[in-house]
Amino acid sequence: MKRTADVVIIGGGIQGLSLAYHLTTLGVCDVCVLEMNTLGSGSSGRSAAIIGHAFQTEASLPLTIWSFQALMRFEEELGASPEYEPIGCLLLAPRTEADQLRRRHAVLRALGVESHLIDADEVGRLTPGLNVEDIELALHNPNEGNVDPHSIMMAYAQQARQRGVRFLEGVRATGLEITGDQVTGVRTTHGLIATRCVVNAAGFCARQVAAWAGLDLPITNLKRHILVTGPVSAYAQTIPFTYDMAGPWYMRREGPGLLIGMGAAESNEEDPVVDRSFLNQVIDYSIRRAPPLEEAGVKTAWAGLRPVTPDDDPILGPVPHLRGYFNDCGWGGHGIMNAPAAGRALAEWIVEGQPRAVDIRSFEAGRFSSVVS
Ligand SMILES: Cc1cc2nc3c(=O)[nH]c(=O)nc-3n(C[C@H](O)[C@H](O)[C@H](O)COP(=O)(O)OP(=O)(O)OC[C@H]3O[C@@H](n4cnc5c(N)ncnc54)[C@H](O)[C@@H]3O)c2cc1C
Repeated sequence: MKRTADVVIIGGGIQGLSLAYHLTTLGVCDVCVLEMNTLGSGSSGRSAAIIGHAFQTEASLPLTIWSFQALMRFEEELGASPEYEPIGCLLLAPRTEADQLRRRHAVLRALGVESHLIDADEVGRLTPGLNVEDIELALHNPNEGNVDPHSIMMAYAQQARQRGVRFLEGVRATGLEITGDQVTGVRTTHGLIATRCVVNAAGFCARQVAAWAGLDLPITNLKRHILVTGPVSAYAQTIPFTYDMAGPWYMRREGPGLLIGMGAAESNEEDPVVDRSFLNQVIDYSIRRAPPLEEAGVKTAWAGLRPVTPDDDPILGPVPHLRGYFNDCGWGGHGIMNAPAAGRALAEWIVEGQPRAVDIRSFEAGRFSSVVS
């Protein structure tokens, strides 16, 4: 095993893989990605795979806009399809949240993102059979939809590997070597790798990795369950990704059935297990919100962690007290849809000293008080 690298990335999820690929596009190919399990086995392999601008904070929207465009030209650039399906996204707001939805709509429109404010009748036309008693308004964007994160990750990995990036699966980072105020290496379960640049793309373990750099990042891992049902006659046709802010709860078509997601309990499990009693709560809520689901049988279920920050934006970029250390974490429920832009902008920051594709400087860890422990 080569014992040095220009850049070591801790974490082989969609963020680490996008960064590795984008570093190579800037000519930095002596890159080593450490993945304690297998590539994509963390949150990136467990998501609902939705690209939806309306689910973003205003600060993160430029990342999603850039990423959406990158995904539209992904096949041309990387030679593999991201399996994009433009099923549309529908964001439902109960009466209490209607004003918040109007504000989101205005922000989206101001940034040139397609967005339609629709009423409960129109919601019923797009996603039949929903219980819309408490729904006043919804946002609809017919051009958004879902991708296949595995195809995206494998394309990034394949391109990066061809240009010299090394992927060490089954190798866990265990600490940093620091000399003065400079990173000089990463300790791993397979020995030390000398480097002057390390990126924390460790997803649900990012808080632990950041602690090695003397940082106390405000990231909380929230567990979300996904279940997939068999066919439901009312949803035999494609429906938009339907997100109910009240739950929060969502569903979209997956094969002949439906994919349903819900849950936000704090958890730090490395391999999150399905909680059967919680699944029953998801089923009860699903039937209340979408009564046609009563006929559905559960085919499979899984759980994953969303590493969430207090402002729901990611933590990106260098830190002033430790040269050569970069964050790429705290992605919550938005790490798939923002991976292309984040990888590109962070690669520029590392190689050229500043991000150009999207200005991500407002996402530095220093925006939170007392992050240096
Ligand atoms: C149920 C669910 C639904 C979601 N739906 C969506 C969605 O629709 N759209 C969207 O954009 N986002 C969604 N997300 C969020 C998205 O999945 C994450 O934001 C994204 O996957 C984060 O990518 P990542 O690379 O930062 O983390 P991860 O994919 O978790 O990758 C981090 C990797 O680091 C590795 N690692 C950790 N510590 C170490 C170490 N010490 N040494 C070596 N390796 C290490 C882990 O094994 C892991 O593979 C969802 C998340 C969940 C859980």
